[in-house]
Amino acid sequence: MSKNQTTCHPLLALHGGQPVRGSMLAYGAQWLDETDIEAVVSVLRSDFITQGPKIAEFERKVAAYAGASYAVAFSSGTGALHGACYAAGIQAGDEVITTSMTFLASSNCVLYCGGTPVFADIHPETYNIDPEDISSKITTRTKAIIPVDYTGQPVQIDRIMELARDNGLVVIQDAAHSIGAEYKGRRVGSWADMTMFSFHPVKHVTTGEGGIIVTNNEDYYKKLLLFRNHGMTKDPDDLLKNDGPWYYEMQNLGYHYRMTDIQAALGASQMDKLDEYVKRRRDIAAYYTKEIAEIEGIQVPVQYQDASSSWHLYVIRFDAGRFNASRKEIFEALRAENIGVHVHYIPVHLQPYYQKLGYLQGSCPVAEAVYQQIITLPLFPRMTDRDAEDVITALRKIAAYYRKID
Ligand SMILES: *Cc1c(COP(=O)(O)O)cnc(C)c1O
Repeated sequence: MSKNQTTCHPLLALHGGQPVRGSMLAYGAQWLDETDIEAVVSVLRSDFITQGPKIAEFERKVAAYAGASYAVAFSSGTGALHGACYAAGIQAGDEVITTSMTFLASSNCVLYCGGTPVFADIHPETYNIDPEDISSKITTRTKAIIPVDYTGQPVQIDRIMELARDNGLVVIQDAAHSIGAEYKGRRVGSWADMTMFSFHPVKHVTTGEGGIIVTNNEDYYKKLLLFRNHGMTKDPDDLLKNDGPWYYEMQNLGYHYRMTDIQAALGASQMDKLDEYVKRRRDIAAYYTKEIAEIEGIQVPVQYQDASSSWHLYVIRFDAGRFNASRKEIFEALRAENIGVHVHYIPVHLQPYYQKLGYLQGSCPVAEAVYQQIITLPLFPRMTDRDAEDVITALRKIAAYYRKID
């Protein structure tokens, strides 16, 4: 069974040995305290459990934090991206450039509007979308760019904004991973035409489910408000006619993507702790980076000089030539040690639905190669120093066991 019978290693849990931990360490989880719970309960005791005052309070907090003038909350980050594509005017015949190394929502939102996602490849060291490849994929049909701050490290947004300006494109930054991150000293949310944050429980701040778009553009702001509420308006200035005080008009097709006050109250309370959460994530990431530097054959994404990641995910890459095991075996060995690892992401263009649409395997060679070798380690602010040590202990144990002896 052992491929390394000549050296003496502790038996892997995968092979029946004692696991590093007694219970499974999740890869991500929310951190709620009594103030969060009280914030939610007070809404439950109030007159409005939805469409009350908490939505606007939450939106103001997020806009102020990100350094943007407006914010529109949605029932999910995915709904928010859909709204942003609508506000940008994406429709049939339009191309939108994004990355394949992301969650499905970053490109599905383009499909929802009838547009065509075009995948630019990633940089081989940072795994963020490569601005040079964006540039090479711009055509006369390109309407927008949706860069994703993969793992929480901001993309080279100044370079991307410049490309957009030169070509008349809208930039929608998918910052689901990067609330609290900075690029050239400026927070994510203050750079792009529209920026999306997600409030799923594994993200930095949670509302259960939820998302938001921040923007400085009043026109986008108004379109987003309509889009999340059936395309319906009651604003006397916007009505084509007015039958009376009850009167409302639907002039465009919108959706029901509203957030509740219950969720917004949780979000507003969580925002007060965001800086503390980001600091804890950065500390754990720094510990991992220091320890992993001493394990041969494992790399972590290179960080840009100009970027300060808020570390949603910690992704490691195994150099296939250095280990007598596949990524799948290493993954299974880590799970057996009770380390709740994951893989982020399966390149979107390889999904069966996208393959049916005609996207080709081999079209993003770097993303496809990186996907074969990556594993996401547990990272969330509530995890203890001991939890983080367990992750490193398990990695060392497994790396030593499978290491190729030359
Ligand atoms: C989480 C996430 C989203 C949005 O997801 P929701 O669950 O709809 O809030 C979008 N893009 C990326 C990269 C994400 O990680």
